[in-house]
Amino acid sequence: MSFHQEKKKHVAVCGGGLVGALNACYMARRGYKVDLYEMRPDIRTMKVVRGKSINLALSCRGREALKRVGLEDAVTKYGIPMHARMIHDLNGRRRPILYGTKDQYIMSIDRRLLNEIMLSAVEKFPDVEIHFSHKLTTCNFETGEATFENEQGHKVTKQFDLIIGCDGAYSAVRKQMMKLSRFDYQQTYIPHGYMELNIPPNSQNEFAMEINYLHIWPRNEYMMIALPNLDKSFTTTLFMPFEMFEAITTEEKLIQFFKEEFPDALPLLGQEELIKTFMSSKALPLITVKCHPYHVNNKAVLLGDAAHAMVPFYGQGMNCGMEDCIILDEILDAYENDFSKALPAYTKKRNPDAKAICDLAMYNYIEMRSKVNTTSFLIRKKLDNL
Ligand code: FAD
Repeated sequence: MSFHQEKKKHVAVCGGGLVGALNACYMARRGYKVDLYEMRPDIRTMKVVRGKSINLALSCRGREALKRVGLEDAVTKYGIPMHARMIHDLNGRRRPILYGTKDQYIMSIDRRLLNEIMLSAVEKFPDVEIHFSHKLTTCNFETGEATFENEQGHKVTKQFDLIIGCDGAYSAVRKQMMKLSRFDYQQTYIPHGYMELNIPPNSQNEFAMEINYLHIWPRNEYMMIALPNLDKSFTTTLFMPFEMFEAITTEEKLIQFFKEEFPDALPLLGQEELIKTFMSSKALPLITVKCHPYHVNNKAVLLGDAAHAMVPFYGQGMNCGMEDCIILDEILDAYENDFSKALPAYTKKRNPDAKAICDLAMYNYIEMRSKVNTTSFLIRKKLDNL
């Protein structure tokens, strides 16, 4: 019997963030019946969306995943190419370090816009239902039942052929898996946190710095980065040990710190705005999650941060999660939608690669905050002279 003569597969995608929304497109394109459950209300109707970073770097991994469901152009038309890192030294001098050849670049993309584009794309497929304000609480990997709590606190339970956990670094699906035997799990918080600041457009309503760069202020033990936005501002993120954040207890200490460490950025951030944001915000933690396996029998599978949350220094967390969607889709093709064969094959293929990217992301923190000051500069200089 061919797949089309069989009963339509019915899947629950838990989490309508960057990976869940995209994966729901992939599953719907396969002809599955898809129910997408998202804990938050519909972000397209919200005034303010609180979340991780305001913008992200989209790389070729993510672009390829968007392309395969026809979304690459819809997204990249809102992206700002970043051809190189722009290193800001203590004296305010700047020097670019190209990412690759001159035509290679990553793109700065607005997280909310990207998520909204993907949610609107999912809705266009037949046989897709999105349930906002539905939080997954428990699931049963024997029966395929999943229970969600809605806004009114009511519990809703439904049965699925497959439960797909795309519910982020603190995944509820993964928590259920952790109760099973022989499930490996490891989480690590780094001693550094992050805080988002803002460099607004200048007095001529233009970008206050060179546009097509990922700006970095590497200061060895800590660093600041800035990515451009379409409104001509730069989302500027300070990464620093928590104890340093906590030591800055007064406005005077804050300004003194920026005068000493980021003198060229201070006038761009604006003293008043900097004080307002810093003093009213809390530094947020950064976590790495590794686990194994990514599936349970033929009933559940993890994608994105739920499977492999990583520190953001390689700019690959979302990109890698989007690539998970490709890998799962290809494996489902190869095994003709037989979940009992496809899910173990997905774990086998994806797990070592994702763990390696988690490690590279951790390594790249040292590269970004410190090594760009020395090694890569020297290597680049040598290469330039060849
Ligand atoms: P999430 O984005 O966390 O989405 C999970 C979704 O599930 C959310 O919408 C949440 O509301 C929902 N949810 C959670 N629990 C439940 C539940 N129980 N029931 C139903 N729904 C639930 N990556 C890059 O590739 N490039 C970058 O430049 C980059 N920059 C970053 C900068 C910072 C500061 C940080 C912190 C991360 C950065 N990342 C970057 C990583 C990227 O943000 C994540 O990898 C990406 O968001 C993962 O997507 P996800 O859909 O797996 O998880």
